[in-house]
Amino acid sequence: MNEFHSGFVAVLGKPNVGKSTLVNAYLGQKIAAVSPRPQTTRRRQLGILTLPQAQIVFVDTPGVHLPRHKLGQFFNQEAAEALEGVDADLFLVDASMEPDDEDRRVADMLLGQRQRPALFLGLNKIDLVPTPEREARRTVYQALLPGVKPFLLSASGGEGRAELLAALIGCLPVRPPEFPPEQITDQYEREIAAELIREAALVFLREEVPHALAVRLDEFTERGEEGAYIAATLFVERESRKGIVIGEGGGMLKRIGSLARREIEAMSGRKVYLNLRVKVEKGWRDNEAALRRFGYKIKSSGVKTEKHKK
Ligand code: GDP
Ligand code: MG
Repeated sequence: MNEFHSGFVAVLGKPNVGKSTLVNAYLGQKIAAVSPRPQTTRRRQLGILTLPQAQIVFVDTPGVHLPRHKLGQFFNQEAAEALEGVDADLFLVDASMEPDDEDRRVADMLLGQRQRPALFLGLNKIDLVPTPEREARRTVYQALLPGVKPFLLSASGGEGRAELLAALIGCLPVRPPEFPPEQITDQYEREIAAELIREAALVFLREEVPHALAVRLDEFTERGEEGAYIAATLFVERESRKGIVIGEGGGMLKRIGSLARREIEAMSGRKVYLNLRVKVEKGWRDNEAALRRFGYKIKSSGVKTEKHKK
């Protein structure tokens, strides 16, 4: 009873199934970016949950999806790296729809791992599935990971969340906590700020500039009583997109800035002055040097190609 459990849990699943929502719900605080659209979570993130009896370090993986260009391959590389050395894998699916090829790819990747940690299957968004259909949904998803017990849950609503958390804790090794209890993330505050800015932009622009948008933090300075001064640049791929992001009379950029500022203030608990600008960087998604400058950690060995095509 008095033994302390501690370890790493990778949260896996295609974009938009609710990974960030679940991790945020457990942490009780907004750390991972949540978006109504896929692919907002682009970096490997750690959310650290410390309870009286356990510490779970969540690895909130980027969406695992088919590589179309280097950025897509980067996501997959990050996802694979996030899996190394974890104590448990939590495969999250969207139970409100039938399994698709993307779910199957993630499941195959999990089953094909050399070292197999404890495996959990979470059927999320169960609140959207009428009760008579839940059993059938459970069966089709269970077929993806034979022998793994499915948990039905609603990350946003709360149903089933506690049961899953208890099961996760139960599988973690008995050992002392890795991180100090007050630490909730190992991500730098500035990285989270950049992600919140990008998320704010996507709220207004998700139709116009779906994923071809990167954010670089240029300055993050403490100004004592006045709070923090943050300057950031939004990069788009084409001149025509730049106008959209800025908007008439700068209106769109103002809306993005004001939403992002509120989110960063909520996250950091202090006043924030936010200064945004927009620049065109042609083809940044296919340009490794540009990706590096935007903060993506790409190994010097380069981005692995066609790794997931069989
Ligand atoms: P991620 O890409 O897997 O990290 O997904 P997000 O956490 O960003 O969630 C994607 C969308 O699904 C957001 O609009 C969430 O509010 C929504 N969502 C997440 N969990 C649930 C759930 O349990 N029920 C419902 N109805 N919506 C959810
Ligand atoms: Mg996410």
